[in-house]
Formats: sequence, structure tokens, C-alpha cells
Amino acid sequence: PFGKPANEQSLKVFQEGGSLLDAVERGIHVAEADVSNASVGLGGIPNSEGVVQLDACIMDGEGHRAGSVAALEDILHPISVARRIMDDSKHVMLAGDGARQFALAKGFASTELLTEEREAEWKKWRNDNHPPDNHDTIALLGLDGNHHIVGGCSTSGWGYKLPGRVGDSPIIGSGLYVDNQIGAAGATGLGENVMRHCTSFLAVEYMRQGLHPEEACVEAIRRAIA
Ligand code: ASP
Repeated sequence: PFGKPANEQSLKVFQEGGSLLDAVERGIHVAEADVSNASVGLGGIPNSEGVVQLDACIMDGEGHRAGSVAALEDILHPISVARRIMDDSKHVMLAGDGARQFALAKGFASTELLTEEREAEWKKWRNDNHPPDNHDTIALLGLDGNHHIVGGCSTSGWGYKLPGRVGDSPIIGSGLYVDNQIGAAGATGLGENVMRHCTSFLAVEYMRQGLHPEEACVEAIRRAIA
């Protein structure tokens, strides 16, 4: 359900003259800022220590440019930090405190991402120690009329994960892959399964071999469960 308003915002930004990158970034902002959504950005489920750590990436089909952040703390819009890494640095990926320091240096505000509701749930989880099974991701793909594709994804990852755990979402080729000549894919699901098979890259490569997008996804998933 959180994908629809994000897509609507994305389309609005594009129709009002924003670039495809702006459209994807600002569409994802909607999910990141939504406190009721427990799996992306503000209000995301924390790690086992009660700290919200976010993963995100953005990829531009033009030149295969990419930026990504892993285990980023205290920053409301990890997708925008990923974009700044892509646009303003020599790197593709920054992790942990380095990513946070980069964001602060670029003017991003430090924000408490753990809401009272998630904190109460985390305390309950810590006491009961019941197995967590709560995670989701927004992966948003944009295609314009000139075969230009941009994709982005953002998540708080696997609820109550070990501190420092990084999922598939910020890994280019795992949680997201974009190729202007072929197409794009984004993943959701347990990152540990996705990242061992470079699943988004694989789906795009299956399309390169001529498979219909749906068949490409089915084949990529088949490889992951084999
Ligand atoms: N892929 C995300 C992760 O493992 C979670 C999800 O999409 O459900 O971090």
C-alpha cells in the first residue's frame, strides 16, 4: 500500500518537469517519511539494539551511475544521501558512520528515526524474544519516453537484525539493477536470499537474453530457491 502514494508523487514530480532522478528520489521520500510504514525510513523497525539502520540505493541507467548507503543512522532520507554519493563523490557506496558523516557534511539534518511505537514494540520483542518476521522495501523504477531508466530502493531492512547487518537493497545488482538498453529490476524479500544470487542483475540479464520481464523474474527467483 505504501508504494502507491510514492508512485503518484513520483509521477507528479516528473509531469511537473522534474528529472527522472528527481521523480524517483522524491517518490521514495514519501515512503521514507511515512511513520506508519514500519519497513522504510522514519518509523522503521530498529535493529536488535533498538537503533534504526537504513539501506538505500539509486541507479541511473545513463552510464550505469549509482550511489548507495548501508546501515545509515539518524538520516531521514537515505535515498537522497545515496544520490549525493552518486552525484558528488567518487564512490558508489558508503556504510555506517562514514555514510552518516558524509550526509551531515552535505547538510542533512540529524533526525531520531525510532518512533515511540517502534521503541515499545522493540522492548516487547527484547523481553519476549519471539522471532521477528517483519520487513519490506520500496523499489521504485522510472522509465521516460527516451528509454532512460532510473531506479531507487530504500528500506530499514530485517526487523531486529544484528547491528551492522546489510541487506540486498543497497547492493547494486542485488536489490536493484538498471540498464537503459534492456530494462530494470528491483527486489524485496529476505535480503540474505536475494544478495547471494545477484537477483536484480540476473533478472535484467534474463531479459537481455530475450525473456519477457515476468519470465525473467520467475527464472531469477527459481535460481534463488534452487
Ligand atoms: N530486502 C530487504 C532486506 O533484506 C527487506 C525486504 O525487502 O523485505 O533488507
